[in-house]
Order: sequence, then C-alpha cells, then structure tokens
Amino acid sequence: MNVMEIFETMEYGPAPEAAAPGLAWIKEHSPFSLFINNQWIKPASGQYIESINPATGKLLAKVAAANSADVDAAVAAARAAFETWSKTPGHVRARYLYAIARHIQKHSRLLAVLESLDNGKPIRETRDIDIPLVARHFYYHAGWAQLMESELPGYQPVGVVGQIIPWNFPLLMLAWKIAPALAMGNTVVLKPARYTSLTALKFAEIVQEIGLPPGVVNIVTGEASQVGEALVSHPDVNKIAFTGSTDVGRSIRRATAGSGKKLSLELGGKSPFIVFDDADLDSVVEGVVDAIWFNQGQVCCAGSRLLVQEDVAERLIEKLRVRMEHLRIGDPLDKAVDIGAIVSPGQLKEIQRLVNQGVEEGAVMWQPSWACPTEGYFFPPTLFTNVSPATTIAQVEIFGPVLVSMTFRTPAEAVDLANNTRYGLAASVWSENINLALDVAPKLKAGSVWINCTNLFDASSGFGGYRESGFGREGGKEGLYEYVRPKWETPDSSSKEFHIADDSASSNGSKSSLSMDEDTEDALQEEAFVSSNGHAPAFPVIDRTPKMFIGGKQARPDSGYSRDVYDLRGHVIGQVGEGNRKDIRNAVEAAHKASGWAFGTTHNRAQILYYIAENLSVREDEFAHRIVQQTGRSYEDATAEVQVSISRLFSYAAWADKFEGVVHRPPLRGAVLAMPEAIGVMGIACPDEYPLLGFISLVAPTISMGNTVIVIPSQQSPLSATDCYQVLETSDLPGGVVNIVTGDHDTLNQVLADHDDVDSMWYFGTAEGSKRVELASAGNMKRTWVNYGHPRDLMDSVQGEGEEFLREATQVKNIWIPYGE
Ligand code: NDP
Repeated sequence: MNVMEIFETMEYGPAPEAAAPGLAWIKEHSPFSLFINNQWIKPASGQYIESINPATGKLLAKVAAANSADVDAAVAAARAAFETWSKTPGHVRARYLYAIARHIQKHSRLLAVLESLDNGKPIRETRDIDIPLVARHFYYHAGWAQLMESELPGYQPVGVVGQIIPWNFPLLMLAWKIAPALAMGNTVVLKPARYTSLTALKFAEIVQEIGLPPGVVNIVTGEASQVGEALVSHPDVNKIAFTGSTDVGRSIRRATAGSGKKLSLELGGKSPFIVFDDADLDSVVEGVVDAIWFNQGQVCCAGSRLLVQEDVAERLIEKLRVRMEHLRIGDPLDKAVDIGAIVSPGQLKEIQRLVNQGVEEGAVMWQPSWACPTEGYFFPPTLFTNVSPATTIAQVEIFGPVLVSMTFRTPAEAVDLANNTRYGLAASVWSENINLALDVAPKLKAGSVWINCTNLFDASSGFGGYRESGFGREGGKEGLYEYVRPKWETPDSSSKEFHIADDSASSNGSKSSLSMDEDTEDALQEEAFVSSNGHAPAFPVIDRTPKMFIGGKQARPDSGYSRDVYDLRGHVIGQVGEGNRKDIRNAVEAAHKASGWAFGTTHNRAQILYYIAENLSVREDEFAHRIVQQTGRSYEDATAEVQVSISRLFSYAAWADKFEGVVHRPPLRGAVLAMPEAIGVMGIACPDEYPLLGFISLVAPTISMGNTVIVIPSQQSPLSATDCYQVLETSDLPGGVVNIVTGDHDTLNQVLADHDDVDSMWYFGTAEGSKRVELASAGNMKRTWVNYGHPRDLMDSVQGEGEEFLREATQVKNIWIPYGE
C-alpha cells in the first residue's frame, strides 16, 4: 500500500503491545497459590482452575481452586489482623494506601497487559482507563483514612469483609472494594472471578512489596460454589460486598438474611442513553461507541438502550451504522483496536442466544460487513431497530456489544421509556439544552446520570444502583458508610445468626409480657377512672374507634374485623382495625399517588414537620396519658417521651433543608452533583418500645427526605400512632404521604416486605422478623434497614436520630455535567 492509498482509505496497521513481560510473569508464578496472611499457600484441595486467554482460546495460567478450608484460613488471618489494623492510626493506614497507589503506578504497564491477556479487553482501555482509575481509587481513599477520625466521628470499622468481584473490570472492582475497606480499618478476604484472577494475584504481590501487615488483605481464588458461597455463609465475616449479576446478588441477599452481616450489592443494568433532537449527533455517535462498545459491552452500566427523539432517529441510526462499519475488532493487545474479545465461550453463547431471540421477536438486526477473527471469542457490534419496549432484548441485560434502539416523541415519554426497566444503575442524557437535561436527570431512576457524556467514573463520585441494580455506593463519602458502623453498636450485634424455627421470642402475643410494679398498677387504676379533665366521669366515655389512615383518609379495615388492645393488666383499652393484604395494597397505591411529595420544596417539608410538632405539643398531656395507659410507665416518663418526640420532629424539620448533596470535582472539566434523593415508597415497622417515639423517630426522617410511607405501628401499643393521624390531618400533610395500617405485625410486615412496589423497608422488631424482611426483600431487591432484634435506645439522641437515619432514607444520585466548548 502506498502513501496515496493510505490517505484514501485512512487505514492504519497494527500497533501491538508486547505480551512478553506479562507472559514471563505468568510463567514464573503459574500454577498460582492462594494469598493468605501475606504468604503464598497451596490450595487445600490440591486442585487448580485454568485461566484462558479469550483472544486465542489458549491456556494462560493455572490458578489455585480453593475450598472452604482455605476460606476458613483466610478469614482467620483477616480476623487476627483486624485486632491491630482497626486500631492502627488513620495516618498510618493512609501511608499504606498511598504506597499501594504508587506501586500500582510503578507496575501499571504490566497490570494493563495482564488484564488484557486475561480478560480480552483492549489494551487502550486497560492502560488508559482501568489502571489509572485503580491508582486514583487508592490515592483518594488514602485521604479518607487520614481523615476518618475527624470526618466520621462516632463510627468504627465493620470487621472482616468478604468481597466478591466479577470478571468485567477485574482490578478496578478489586480497588473499588479494597480501598474503602482498608481506609476505614477493616480487613479483607477477596474472591476474584474465576475467569480473571491474574491482576488480583499481581496486586497481592504489591501488598507484600509495600509491607502491608499480614492478614489485612487475603486473595482466595477458585469457584463460586467453593469460595463464594463459603465466604457468604461464613459466621466470622461481618460484611459482604458483591458486584455481579442480579440473580447471584439476590441469592446472597437470601443467604445473609437475618445474619446481621452488612451487605452492599452492585448488580446489573439496562441503562438508557437518551438523545433529544437538539443534541450534537456527531458527539452522540462517539458517546454511543463509549456507552456500548467499551469493554465489548460487558459493563454493568453500559448504555444498552438507545432512546432517540423520533425526528432525528433516522439520521442518527445512519451515522451510527457508518461508525460501526469503521470500528476495529481483534487482538486486545493491538493499540489500534476498539473492540476486544468476549470473556468466555459461555458468555459468547449467551450473547448469541439473546441476539437470536431479538430477531425471532421481530426486531431488525444490523451488523457491520466485516467478519470477526475466527480464533478466540469475538462478537461484532450489533444494532437492533424496530424494537418494542416489552421484548426480551429491551428488558434483559445482554452484557455484550449489542445496542437496542427505540424512539420517543416528548421528554415525558423519554422518561417513561427510560424508567421502564427493573434496573436503575445509570443513564445518559444528550441535549444542547441544559435546562431540559437538568429537568430530566432527577426524574430518571438511576444512581448515575451522565449529561452529554457517558461511562465516566471517579473515586470521588459514588457509583451504585436504584431498584434491582442493587444498593450501596462505591466511591465518594457515601461509599465509606458501607464499611463502618456506629460506635455504640457492640461487635457481636452485627454477626449473629438467627433461626426462625428455633427462636421463640416473638411479638405475636396480644397481651403484653412486660412485668408491672405496684406504682404502675396504681397509675393504671387512676388512668382507668379519671377522665382527661381530672374528674370522675358522670357518663360512660364515648367510644373512640381508631381507624386506619390511608391516602389522607380514615379507613375501616377491609377485613371488617378489629383487634383488641390491652393494657399491662390484660384489660382491653381499645380496638384497632385488623389490617390485611388489601389494606396494604391500598396504602401502597396511595403512597405512590403522593410521590409528588419528593418534588416539593424542602422548605415546605420542613414547615409541615414543624406544624406536626406544634399540633402534637398542644395535645402533649393527652398523648402522655395514652402512653401511660398502654405501657404502664409513669406519667413523667410518658411526658418525657412526648417531649422527645416533639424535639425529634424539630430535628427533622431542621434537617429537611440541610441534608444536602455536594459538588464533586473529579479530574475532568466539569462538575458532578451528588444529590441525596428520596428512595420512594417505604414500609416502616415500628418497635414496641416507645409507642409514640417509635412512630415519630421512623416516620419523621423518611418523610423529611421526601419519601412516602406505609407504617405499621407497634402491635402491642398501636394507639399512640393512630392518635397521630388527627395531628397529621391538621398539619397540612398531603394525603398519602403517611399511611397507617394496624393489625398483626408479622402478617402485615410480610406483605409489605414482599410487595414489589415498595422500594425500601425499615423494620424494628424481633430477630426472626428482621430475617423475614431481609429474605422477602430479595424479590425486588428492595433496600432494608433492620435491627436484628437488638434494642436501640430511641430516647438517646445518638442512637435515636441523626444522619444515620437520613442516609437510610435516601439514595445518592450523581449527575455528571462536563462543561466548556
Ligand atoms: P456472577 O454474578 O455469577 O459472578 C460474579 C462473581 O460472583 C464471581 O466472582 C462469581 O464467581 C461469584 N459468584 C457466583 N455465584 C456465587 C454465589 N452463589 N455465591 C457467591 N459468589 C458467587 O456473574 P457471571 O460471571 O456468571 O456473569 C453472568 C451474568 O451476570 C453476565 O452475563 C452479566 O449479565 C451479569 N454480570 C454483571 C456484572 C455487573 O458488573 N453488574 C458483572 C458480571 C456479570 P465465579 O467467577 O467463580 O463464578
């Protein structure tokens, strides 16, 4: 080919990166051992798994196949190391993390080559994206280790953390997991994906190199059924951090339910890429390339659904086809290659299966005219048009280089289409009109929203999902809270296994099991015979029947039944409705209808909370008597509970316009707005202790953040909560924001926890109730906050209110806004 021809075709030759240093390193170490307590240990099974180069299909290395005995050894090493590491000053931990970051940079090229060989991703990506982000993550978290004491006072490390990562960003996912864990003083046992362990093992060498104390980081390679499951069920692991498929995330949620293990899940996605008709279409095309052909589309937040405004759809699709024709696929070590290999034959087959299904379902498939290499596992970039939103390829995560496109007419239609998925990881919005983009961004149910950009990541900006994309954040300050717990919590309260069948402690008895002293008996006698004006009544008291409260209206129970409420002596003091599945359904519906509450001003929410406090204080005496009547506590004690409840309402009125986001400044020309948003519709099960304060302490933070709630009051003492609806009615609270359903706790909680239209559930009750809620939540992966039967002193302002509650009532959305011409 002569120069003239080159100018004509604009073709360029290969620019291969040398594989030799990577292959030499592998040869030196293979078969690889396990990294436990800073030592290389042969697997107990004596077995090894094969690591294949996806670009050739040939054997690359043999890696230890650990079993549960190895996991036990690694957890024991991590537990022993935790004793000292958790007490190591933040500055010292910061130095170690800083050293790791430096050594990642020193070995950056080797790491990039190893990652490409092992995973099949182009060297351009591993060299320019994965490895620099890994180093950045350790630098950033070195900073948090340094600042932990001053910036997270009142928090302590969780303990031993089990971390399970996928194959699509092997070293980057390791960094996202290990850096915050170590920064916050935890120790780690990490399981890499079976296809891609090599960079994690090189990382282990770095750990040795920098002299990190033994046992702080342990790397255990092997199969999911041997290593992953053993880690998840290990009784001495205090937290599981997982990234991978939604199905496995769901099984981990079920396996850890009731165990008290903290859990964060980064799961799948089907992210929308929304193009408005005023977008710069040439930039859009490059955006699409980055959204769906980056890492062969094997990206949890890949922009796999292209949603285009109808009037520019044809033009954009045409431009895309031209661009796709020029994409280069092939040897991942060639620096001129855009698309590398698919990680495994199994994954390749799955992509092909879904593409075939798309064709069968009537969508139109388009692929470039060129052919893929025949050696190794390659799949061409693929575009589907004529896709209907309900089809499999529009709903299921394909995890390959396959884009499905659909059209919309109006911004409202775009939002509906974008949110028409069970996932909620990320979204891209393309428009030259910043007003439109910033109007749409908050309406998208996704953890990250990129405006006129896509697939941007930085340690400073949290990443994580809404809905079935999981919960918890990685990166940013919010990511740190996944690795700490309040100091007042005792260590054994976080990792106890509860067995439903064996546990006899239950809230099923209608009559209270609390004991009563003589003073209390007297107090109750008095309550029974003295009316609120202090005189003996001349007539029988007029019957007051508390109803339920749904959609801003008092509602009779669907069942037509009532249940008796008893005082401590076993005397009936009233009745409440016997709520059932239908009442919960109506309440959930009403809560959804009231979702506009989240979009009102924070000033307005604060005003209403103050107003509720004001109206409660007018009836302070009556509420105190009600508490005495239900609990037998002294009047002074009950008055104190009412007063703390009023103060708590003030606290959350104060927080309503102060729990704000931050503006991150990642290394790009632009800013990232990290906004805490309401989670949506929340279920709340109140504790039996403190009938009024239990209700207020859980309802006030959730509604102050814009959620709408369905509350199940204390089963034993529900009357303080039902008395409250009159206070709510007179405080301008819009109907449906707070819904109260009374009845059997276990039955109602189960319905709420199972409900697919409930986004989050708080449960304060028994150990087995907590376990049931966590188990049921796996259905739609709703977020949960439960107390595992451990008491929390709500009268104490450290345990009973504050930012911990607000964080549990919100999820952070990161909106990326690049600027400049
Ligand atoms: P998995 O979710 O199966 O694997 C992710 C990690 O979890 C791996 O380390 C895996 O181990 C481990 N694991 C698997 N099952 C269990 C278990 N029961 N208990 C504990 N650990 C377990 O993803 P796959 O690799 O099988 O990919 C399947 C699909 O998942 C993809 O097609 C894609 O749709 C999705 N996926 C999503 C990712 C994301 O980032 N959101 C990442 C990867 C996949 P091992 O490797 O040994 O099997």
